[in-house]
Amino acid sequence: MKRFTSVLLIGAVAVSMLAQEKMDPAKNKFRQMRTEFNTPNAYRTGSGAPGQLYWQQQANYKISIELDDEKQLIRGEEQIEYINKSPDPLNYLWVQLDQNMRQKKSLTKLTMPMKLGERMHPYYMGMFLSDFDGGFKIEHVGDGNGGELPYTINYTMMRIDLPVPLEPGGKVDLEIKWWFNVNDRMKNGGGRSGMEYFVEDDNYIYTIAQFFPRMAVYSEVEGWQNHQFTGRSEFALPFGDYDVEITVPSDHVVGATGVLMNPEEVLSEKQLDRLEKASNSLDEPVLIVSEEEAVSAEKKKLSSKLTWKFHADNVRDFAFASSRKFIWDAMAVQFGERKVLATSLYPKEGNPLWEKYSTRAVAHTLQVYSRHTFDYPYPVAYSVHTNQIGMEYPMICFNGGRPLPDGTYSENTKWGMIAVIIHEVGHNYFPMIVNSDERQWTWMDEGLNTFLQGIAEREWDHDHPSPGGKPSDIVPYMKGDKSNIAPIMTQGDLVKQFMSNAYNKPATGLNILRETIMGRELFDFAFKQYAQRWMFKHPTPEDLFRTMEDASAVDLDWFWRGWFYGTDHVDISLDRVTAMQLASGNPAEEKALDKKNAEAEPEELAVQRNRASMQSMVEEDPAMKDFYNNYDPYASDESDVETYSSYKRNMSDAEKKWRAMKGFIYQLDFSNVGGMVMPLVIQFEYTDGTSEIKRIPAEVWNQDNLKTSKVFLLEKELAGVTLDPNLETADCDLSNNHWPPRIEESRFELYKSSGRRGGGSNPMQEQ
Ligand SMILES: [Zn+2]
Repeated sequence: MKRFTSVLLIGAVAVSMLAQEKMDPAKNKFRQMRTEFNTPNAYRTGSGAPGQLYWQQQANYKISIELDDEKQLIRGEEQIEYINKSPDPLNYLWVQLDQNMRQKKSLTKLTMPMKLGERMHPYYMGMFLSDFDGGFKIEHVGDGNGGELPYTINYTMMRIDLPVPLEPGGKVDLEIKWWFNVNDRMKNGGGRSGMEYFVEDDNYIYTIAQFFPRMAVYSEVEGWQNHQFTGRSEFALPFGDYDVEITVPSDHVVGATGVLMNPEEVLSEKQLDRLEKASNSLDEPVLIVSEEEAVSAEKKKLSSKLTWKFHADNVRDFAFASSRKFIWDAMAVQFGERKVLATSLYPKEGNPLWEKYSTRAVAHTLQVYSRHTFDYPYPVAYSVHTNQIGMEYPMICFNGGRPLPDGTYSENTKWGMIAVIIHEVGHNYFPMIVNSDERQWTWMDEGLNTFLQGIAEREWDHDHPSPGGKPSDIVPYMKGDKSNIAPIMTQGDLVKQFMSNAYNKPATGLNILRETIMGRELFDFAFKQYAQRWMFKHPTPEDLFRTMEDASAVDLDWFWRGWFYGTDHVDISLDRVTAMQLASGNPAEEKALDKKNAEAEPEELAVQRNRASMQSMVEEDPAMKDFYNNYDPYASDESDVETYSSYKRNMSDAEKKWRAMKGFIYQLDFSNVGGMVMPLVIQFEYTDGTSEIKRIPAEVWNQDNLKTSKVFLLEKELAGVTLDPNLETADCDLSNNHWPPRIEESRFELYKSSGRRGGGSNPMQEQ
């Protein structure tokens, strides 16, 4: 315990305010993000909202395709109505040919670095050794009036040259014909689209996307977003309305982006009745096609054909699934006056998991996500089962999670399946409706979506083993080798440790903002503002960063800089706890205390060793006692009494108040070891066994980013202090979070060098 006088206290405060001199203000982690952010303008405002002159392009599609189940190929033609809402005349248009990633000489194959190793992943073997003839075979590009248009294909991008510039406000019609071989997802790399073959019954499940030439995004931020598609960084697509006709074998069940426009032409009376019933069932899913019916279709294999017609308004893409293996169930989710159809398609191989959980997980996702963003605006949301993948499109997604062939499954498989359904259905919000540029920023949809996935998972089950965005889960990544970590603000193809970087770290950051930095009320309002401002528009990272501040009055520039633009980790150390007592002002009392303290100090070793001989000398000759020093530096005299009474006479009111104060004063010293500043979450543990948590905002670091101190007046005496007791800040080293320090527990295994685990001679080699 230390004592201080009230004069000294003022001195101490003054000293801590001078500490800033050590830090270069130009490097202060709290400086504003003016140099990193794009300058606000009439398209995107400083508040993070769309500006007065905000514009975006529109592309409307009429597509007609046929799925050839004999040859496993797709043949199609489309009319695109491209509307130029930009202020710029356009001489050419860029169209995305994503299937070309599967061409024999695709950019993906040419540029993927590869080394021969002892273990080869089947994905790479499939990519490099297959003779699969993938990619679009473009047969015709025209103007819709019988004229041909010149075009140039550069891997996955096609430039169409216009005979006259497309003026602002103008429209142009394009007509394209093509075909392509559908890839077997399980053999040829790339699971975002393709088919899965079931050898037992000789049938396919088609989960088809990127199946038509799609307009690229033209914006004031990028111009044309024509960065090549090599398989990883996903898509940038304009909104539009779609009419799509899909011709398939007549025993197939088709699910797609949009509303089925001709149910009476493709469904039986019985199925129509069941669909009607499902569309009004708010409590539980209703089967439209049963397992029995699907198994019977698997065997019959009709060769006749039917055309399913779908319509979708204001979507950025279109995908579909088709198979005669599909069982189909659905239920309704109420939004105001509207009922949305939550629905699932799955083969018998997905049961019993899928009939139990899929459609319910879809409904749950729509309810939770809508609460945090906006009411789900589309009429339908499909979850389609096919092995291994999770892939999202507007109103439809393709999800893994399959029981073993005997129908049993582990809890892990079940959790994985529910997690992937929540995640992929959740993508309807980000990026399908809040339409960010996935080709540039993977995290803008994956990170935000993984964050909301975590909220939905925690509401699905409080004991969820590892919900998205859990702070302690990101620790191993963040404290890892920095040369293998890229900032979140990195273009998707260049990101290292993709999942940690673009999914988990941004999701964790948002979770920390919500629970620790901003609080739920401020965060939820601001996040909802962002979603609603950019619903059916194209936001950039700054639009998110700015909106979160604009709607909350919380300055977050330090957080964006540290968490999104940097690679520092969080490691705050509780360096020291000092207990302090206010000095009495009475010299006699102070001297007595000083004496007590001095006597409590250990005696010098030399004195200890000499003591016996000195004592025997005094015993032999008592006169020797006076020979030694008897001076008492702590003795009090008359002058002390006078000093004290004069002090009391002159005591100011403030000092009297201090004197009357009851309690315990502690100073806590912290240092920022990891580099990323964070609020201080401090748990005080008292000698009476109780505890309480005090929260100090991150700005406590704004004068000195590396060291800070706080003084607390507590009613009770401290037994201990724990920093971040709930593990809410992703602090990477907990060994410096306790006062007094704790012995850390760890485990090691014993094994004999000749034992099963070692299997070898020298145990050191196993590291
Ligand atoms: Zn995702």
